[in-house]
Amino acid sequence: MEKLVHLNSARSRGIHEDERVEAMLKELEEEFMVSDEKMRDIIKEFHQEMDNGLKGKESSLPMIPSYVTKRPTGKEKGSYLALDLGGTNLRVCLVQLKGDSTFDMEQMKYPIPAEAKASTLFEFIADCVEKFLFLHKVPVDPSLGYVPCGFTFSFPVNQTGIKRGNLVMWNKGFSVPNAVGRDVVNMTQDAFMRHHLRVKIVALVNDTVGSLMTSGYSFPNAQMGIIFGTGTNACYWEKASKIEKYNGDDKDSIDEMVINMEWGAFDNALKLLPYTPYDNKLNRKSPNFGLQSYEKMISGMYLGEVARNALLWMIDRRALFGGRSSTELNTGYGFDTSYVSTIVADESADLEEVRVVIELSLNIPETTLKDRQTVKRVCRLVGDRAKKLSAAAMCAVLLWRPELLDSEEGVSVGIDGSMYQFYPEFEESLIEESKKFLGEERASRLKLVLSKDGSGVGAAIVAMIATN
Ligand code: BGC
Ligand code: MG
Repeated sequence: MEKLVHLNSARSRGIHEDERVEAMLKELEEEFMVSDEKMRDIIKEFHQEMDNGLKGKESSLPMIPSYVTKRPTGKEKGSYLALDLGGTNLRVCLVQLKGDSTFDMEQMKYPIPAEAKASTLFEFIADCVEKFLFLHKVPVDPSLGYVPCGFTFSFPVNQTGIKRGNLVMWNKGFSVPNAVGRDVVNMTQDAFMRHHLRVKIVALVNDTVGSLMTSGYSFPNAQMGIIFGTGTNACYWEKASKIEKYNGDDKDSIDEMVINMEWGAFDNALKLLPYTPYDNKLNRKSPNFGLQSYEKMISGMYLGEVARNALLWMIDRRALFGGRSSTELNTGYGFDTSYVSTIVADESADLEEVRVVIELSLNIPETTLKDRQTVKRVCRLVGDRAKKLSAAAMCAVLLWRPELLDSEEGVSVGIDGSMYQFYPEFEESLIEESKKFLGEERASRLKLVLSKDGSGVGAAIVAMIATN
């Protein structure tokens, strides 16, 4: 614990002190606020940027054609290997599509070590696949001579075909050198070759596309896939005629295609976003400075860090913990987003859960109730902003094709990710906000479905469609 050097610790907390803390919280409240008017501006700007992106004009939204042009029917059948490289874990799955909108799946989850994130990623993937094939005795398809594999890759890729695409950039803390600009499937396939694995990648999809395809397997009205997890992004079905920049050979014969929006990059220029000094502090130290601005305000990788920066601002002014900090709290990313979730969820009068996090996990002893209330309010502000921005983005995409919401079938949205699953009242907030911005009538025809582990199954579905 940091020593309290020459802070005026004798000063007891008086009315004056409480007012000062309150004033600081008010200041934070204003900085983090997202008004309804701001939400409307964001939705409008989204539409402008979607339009620009689809036309190939300059835009903060890349709007990447996915080369996925066929919807799943639920009748798909067969056995596929699926790899899901997320921001935190690699999952290797053996998916059995059963042809009746159901599937069986065996899977293993491998946490991605820091070393792999920084250099040995493709070796790590091949290692995990090798272990999995052995453990699960995965047979080579005798008619093909290899195990067909769908690959879900949770980073921006400029696709040039259903199983080809060049990495645009790393994010979420990855930094493997000599990978940006190169073909992701080649790099992975090369590693498989070094390990003598008879596995062939037949489809490469973004994780949002995996989510959309999985929900489409059971819900024919699935129009959009979203990840609210370590990172955030969405994809949706777009009419081919609208994708002006797409020049594939099949341009005239296809009706629609899934577009990977890469919405984490929305408003990187910060024209509109409620950007605070605490965001800037995070941004300045991040390996992708100035990029993924939206993602940095929404997703699980970053929320704890934004909250930590705001808490330190208060500590430095002796408005919290009597000015004390700790090694844990002084360390970049030392305040995990799961702490934010736990703290916000604590409804008890004495904030016991909050106490456990601060005193045991963060090593700051003897917190007062006032301290704990202050921490909770700061965490709420950061979390509430994330919820609002998440809802604004989702509503923007739904309002891009309002006729779908007006139709009798309505719209299903497949969603996955730790924020959606575990952040307190995240889904409730999406629903509340959508009533406000879509209108009650349309919101009543909107269905949010958890596409749990959807990215793995989705990759298998696309692999199936791609090879038949
Ligand atoms: C990546 C996206 C991905 C999202 C969710 C973002 O950081 O750029 O490709 O879909 O995270 O995992
Ligand atoms: Mg994932």
